[in-house]
Amino acid sequence: MSVFLSIVVPVYNEEESILLCYEKLVQVFSVYEKTVEFIFIDDGSRDKSYSILKNLSVKDSRVKCIQFSRNFGKEAAMSAGFDFCSGEYVCQIDADLQDPPELIPEMIALAQQKELDVVYGVRTKRDGETRLKKITSFLFYKLIARISSIDIPEHTGDFRVMTKEVVMAIRKLKETQRFMKGLFAWVGFKQEGFYYERNSRSAGKTKFNYVKLWNFAIEGITSFTNVPLKLATYVGFFFACFSFCLAVFYILKYFLYGDRFQGFLTLIVAILFIGGIQIMFLGIIGEYLGRIYFESKNRPLYLVKNKVIDTSASKID
Ligand code: UDP
Ligand code: MG
Repeated sequence: MSVFLSIVVPVYNEEESILLCYEKLVQVFSVYEKTVEFIFIDDGSRDKSYSILKNLSVKDSRVKCIQFSRNFGKEAAMSAGFDFCSGEYVCQIDADLQDPPELIPEMIALAQQKELDVVYGVRTKRDGETRLKKITSFLFYKLIARISSIDIPEHTGDFRVMTKEVVMAIRKLKETQRFMKGLFAWVGFKQEGFYYERNSRSAGKTKFNYVKLWNFAIEGITSFTNVPLKLATYVGFFFACFSFCLAVFYILKYFLYGDRFQGFLTLIVAILFIGGIQIMFLGIIGEYLGRIYFESKNRPLYLVKNKVIDTSASKID
């Protein structure tokens, strides 16, 4: 029987949350008339997550699971979910129940009613997140909106419902460094936000720390804009003009007033300043170069170790 809705759940060390998540999903969809499948992607968990998932798949044929050979990251896990799903509609949701599954039917209804291709969750309240995380994420979205040509809606996470067509479009994007929110913005289609309140985690701890979030932010920026590279040209140009004017000024001063400019310290400060800027831009160029390097290897996004899923209906290309 063809599947109407695929629910894609990335899982990384979630032994405490999986059952809660599964039970909640079952409860929500117990009264749903259409066929649903639950696809869990175990992103190389080191705890019992996969054996829990396997047991679930034995009990409930709607549960499919895929196990990665190691931790490839949430973006890879979601991509695998998109590769293996077969529904007319696909929903992605975290395993920790921060995004309420009971909203999924409403989101699908909205998509059908307004003929939307993507309905993405927009958080009106973000429980369980520190102030610093809220401020930094606010600044990040402002910055990326300003310096890139794509428009990533603010306060969105990875809770969304989309049509098969959008999933097909996402499958076509083969880049290994995947900034999913950006990819969703990039593919276009008719999209609309769905406002909801985000809860704290049901159990377990967040898998993201500030180092991961920083790398995520750099990923987002370097994947969608080369403005930082252009900035080097403008900053360089600015300093060249500035130093030229300064030189003219001191030459005139010398000829008009016989003043000689002195100051060892100022010289050191200026050299360090310009040197710092140069090294910073070398770093920025390095970021882009590194990405080209990894992209040119053309490695697969993820490797599957085990799976309990019939791929004939879904896959791929
Ligand atoms: N996750 C994953 N791979 C990772 C990190 C996280 O599949 O390397 C999953 C995790 O199990 C959860 C979702 O991604 O289902 C969101 O993770 P988390 O709740 O830790 O992120 P936060 O909500 O704090 O942004
Ligand atoms: Mg979470």
